[in-house]
Amino acid sequence: MIRPLVPRLAIIGAGLIGSSLARAAREKHLAGTIVVADRDAAVCARVRELGFADEVTQSAAEAATDADIVIACVPVGASGAVAAEVGPHLKPGAILSDVGSVKASVVEAMAPFVPAHAHLVPAHPVAGTEFSGPDAGFAALFENRWCIVTPPEGADPAAVDRIVALWRAAGANVETMSAQHHDLVLAITSHVPHLIAYNIVGTAAELEETLTSEVIKFSAGGFRDFTRIASSDPTMWRDVFLSNREAVLEMLGRFTEDLTALQRAIRYGDGDALFEHFTRTRAIRRSIIEQGQETAAPDFGRRAAEKPKHEQS
Ligand code: NAP
Repeated sequence: MIRPLVPRLAIIGAGLIGSSLARAAREKHLAGTIVVADRDAAVCARVRELGFADEVTQSAAEAATDADIVIACVPVGASGAVAAEVGPHLKPGAILSDVGSVKASVVEAMAPFVPAHAHLVPAHPVAGTEFSGPDAGFAALFENRWCIVTPPEGADPAAVDRIVALWRAAGANVETMSAQHHDLVLAITSHVPHLIAYNIVGTAAELEETLTSEVIKFSAGGFRDFTRIASSDPTMWRDVFLSNREAVLEMLGRFTEDLTALQRAIRYGDGDALFEHFTRTRAIRRSIIEQGQETAAPDFGRRAAEKPKHEQS
């Protein structure tokens, strides 16, 4: 029999990401035993029904006991509390990791609870959807998506290799960088775009009633894409903005300056400036498609993304 990559894999939090990872681990035989912990008894019952875990428990501590790799799949604001709960139960050589969309604050929150005999190797699979919970997950979520691993300074290379190997085996391409660099990059590629979506949908919702119904009726003109993003989980995104404050504010500052330049071009009828700007941005989309991170399908790939629902996050 082939030895699995991870003898005992513990996943804390059976949401979209946790359940997708458990499903991928099951489908690809990555773990000898998959233990899933969720604080909610109803979610645990659902995980048992869905059948992607060998063991299901409400106790993160119980799941972490004897596990080789423990992955916190909870909102970033809860990662410290999860580390505090599982830390005392980590066996020698065990690796504690996570999937949070922000990294520097997660390292800061989790590191104090990792005993000297264990390792902390945070990661962020840059793959997701606007859906939550154990039913939303699917095994192919990480396929050909990026996973960014952010080892803290002095991290054990063998532990880092094991987390990299796990994500590669789950189908992801892996890149390693510092937590700070990750947070800056994700601020512009993910966090600010979500803020813009939340903002534009909020602005539309504030319009007087007749206008709002027309916004919904004619939403295919671009607005609909924003509503999908703006329906993402409020807890997760509240935590992202509170945890990545500096980088988001920095990128938001640049964004505001560029928006003012576009506003100026419109005001003064500077068609050349607008044309040049839109030509540049079009090229960026082309390179994303070329790199396999999006589909060139019509309708902005939305239909393809709906089945099986994967979108960047
Ligand atoms: P989700 O579907 O809402 O699941 C969140 C999970 O965390 C649930 O199991 C929830 O438990 C648990 N949880 C919430 N608060 C907790 C707490 N205080 N203590 C213990 N458990 C708690 O969210 P998700 O989309 O999987 O996101 C999980 C993580 O992945 C987040 O850090 C997020 O930043 C990251 N991420 C998300 C995406 C995305 O697109 N969604 C992409 C990449 C990374 P209950 O069952 O009790 O609610």
